[in-house]
Amino acid sequence: MARGARRRAERLELRPGARYHRPIHALGIAVPTHYRRDGDVALLQIDNPPVNALDLSVRTGLEALLRRAADEPQVKAVVLCGARACFSAGADISEIASGAAFHSPMLLELHARMEALGKPIVAAIEGAALGGGLELALTCHARIAAPEARFALPEVKLGLIPGSGGTQRFTRLAGPAAALEAITSGAQLPAARALAIGLIDAIGADPLQVAVAWARRLADGASVPVLARAREDKIAAVEPDLFTAFRAARARAFRGQLAPWRIVDAIEAACTRPALEAFQLERQWYLECRASPQRKALMHVFHAERAARRVAVAAPQVEALPIARVGVVGAGTMGAGIAMCFANAGIDVTLLDVSREAVARGLERVGELYGESVARGKLTDEVASAARARIRGAVDYAALADVDMAVEAVFEDLALKCQVFERLDRSTPPRAILASNTSTLDIDRLAACTARPQQVVGTHFFSPAHVMKLMENVRGRASSPQTLATVMALGRRLGKIAVLAGNCDGFIGNRMLQYYGAEAERLLEEGATPEQIDAVIEAFGFAMGPLAMRDLAGNDVGWAIRRHRTLPADERWSPILERMAAQGRLGRKSGRGFYLYEGRERRSDPQVLALISAVSRELGIERREIGAGEILARLLHPLVNEGAKLLAEGIAARAGDIDVVYIHGYGFPAYKGGPMYWAEQEGLAKVIATLERLAPSHGARWRPCAYLRAAAARGGWEHLTQC
Ligand code: NAD
Repeated sequence: MARGARRRAERLELRPGARYHRPIHALGIAVPTHYRRDGDVALLQIDNPPVNALDLSVRTGLEALLRRAADEPQVKAVVLCGARACFSAGADISEIASGAAFHSPMLLELHARMEALGKPIVAAIEGAALGGGLELALTCHARIAAPEARFALPEVKLGLIPGSGGTQRFTRLAGPAAALEAITSGAQLPAARALAIGLIDAIGADPLQVAVAWARRLADGASVPVLARAREDKIAAVEPDLFTAFRAARARAFRGQLAPWRIVDAIEAACTRPALEAFQLERQWYLECRASPQRKALMHVFHAERAARRVAVAAPQVEALPIARVGVVGAGTMGAGIAMCFANAGIDVTLLDVSREAVARGLERVGELYGESVARGKLTDEVASAARARIRGAVDYAALADVDMAVEAVFEDLALKCQVFERLDRSTPPRAILASNTSTLDIDRLAACTARPQQVVGTHFFSPAHVMKLMENVRGRASSPQTLATVMALGRRLGKIAVLAGNCDGFIGNRMLQYYGAEAERLLEEGATPEQIDAVIEAFGFAMGPLAMRDLAGNDVGWAIRRHRTLPADERWSPILERMAAQGRLGRKSGRGFYLYEGRERRSDPQVLALISAVSRELGIERREIGAGEILARLLHPLVNEGAKLLAEGIAARAGDIDVVYIHGYGFPAYKGGPMYWAEQEGLAKVIATLERLAPSHGARWRPCAYLRAAAARGGWEHLTQC
């Protein structure tokens, strides 16, 4: 920093009691850290827009300011805070990949300097204290937070463990049970929870003012509180089987992943090893995770999720329309969940169905789902009641006379949906957007039923809609930029990850899924069992195998969707699904499908194997042993080939969009980056070779498309704009 700039920055005196958010940038100087004095307390502020990331410039600035605070004899104590009502959202993610996070001073070195300062340091926390930001706060002698402050060590989401003492200090302050929950999930804790577990020391409306007073008190008092590094009380009497029980409980959720297990190891080390050794182990495991392919895959997902928000629309700078009231037509499984999504975001909802009974059932379902959310601790009673009160039922379309948007979620039947769109066009205000939750049907056909095709769009939610993160928005031929901007902004407001898809049968997700599902049935015909297929896919890391997923969605639903689809000449549907539906093996909802169900447990059903074997016989297929490698290859490769076709047709704008859809809508393991990323890691040339090897015997889905070949020739999806 230029000396003149520093002097000017330092002249901004802090007035006692004033909030410390003076925009230094008003001076036109980008200064990432500031030093001010309030009597005998030095105030160190991080000011690195937008979220006070701890990049090299901040770390360098803080190191210099800590040295200054140590040297100035008038300074008795230090307060650390952040500008713009945000403490710090943590490391600069690009520095983790580039290695700049390892340039001195690293966070670890700053921590050492803070702990050796010889003067008490108090963190004043507003807004976010995340990742490295929280690690910094945990290194202080005390933490004072604003009521709305949020705390998290979210490194696990990027395939990492906190690498600068986060697991150690968190455990020593809050105890191992709280640390296990918080750090393996990366979830944000509100200030009240952070106080309850001992992570912070107090909550105050003006945390800076309180922190200054605390710092002064600590400096004046005989003793300074023990630093987290040296705290022993919370790790002294740990329940003997805490770690064994936690590992067993999370075995399925963490399977295949590195970072969550290493976090558990690090927390256990905090409780069982000498401090120095435990801190070193944490660092060693951080470096191991940082070097792992899982970290790179998760970083890809992180960037892909952000890129998906950027939608190329014809007209720049279109504003999203305000959405305050919506109508949801169809109070079934999806309608009820979609209504909750809106209500949870503070939007008033009218839930409409054909009869009072159907509406009552829908509202009852909404009530039950809110009850479950409260029971699971996802929502407080208060928040759930307030959201529930925003949803009212109706049978008359007149109730939709003042909505800003309507979402149709009736049965998957084009003629029925057309009727609904005609009614919506007549009953809603001309400004309203009309959206369909269809899984596969043509948005343009629905738009043509209205006099406002530019305001018709697909908003494809996933089941259960109030839980699943993905929202696949579908652009019709006439959908206006403003309509698209509105539904993309809506996705964020609902807390979803929205991806824009073009209009085709199945859009991005279900179009790719059709060959994945069809291939699973071909494998059954050839000799595999449902258990084998699902085990291979679940071992790969999917939340659920393809046949268990069919049972969840309903085999009748899957078969009904298939009936209106056409296949290339050398493809065929297996008769298995139709037979399952005809025998009432609908899946979970009827207690039997590819498996038998008791509650959430699934069991093998010998009769299913008999049904499948009969199909093999009728088709003249000799059943054979199929290895796990073949099963995996046959299920994943058609996904990639179809994904490449979607890119070629412009249905998906980016390979990363497809990855995001598959991770958040279909349970592809995020730590493997999504199907298109996975293909790049395999090597696109190898993917083509496998497709070609399988093509002669398995039909059109196996012929590598031109786009895939072009991407392989150029070295990856990124390098290709046009096929
Ligand atoms: P559902 O059978 O649970 O509910 C459909 C509801 O629509 C019923 O309550 C029915 O009474 C009502 N309805 C029928 N005709 C109506 C009309 N004319 N006016 C008002 N209401 C009417 O179906 P669902 O599973 O909720 O699916 C709804 C839509 O969502 C379908 O297009 C489906 O493809 C799509 N979808 C479903 C899932 C899923 O997993 N279930 C996932 C994504 C998308």
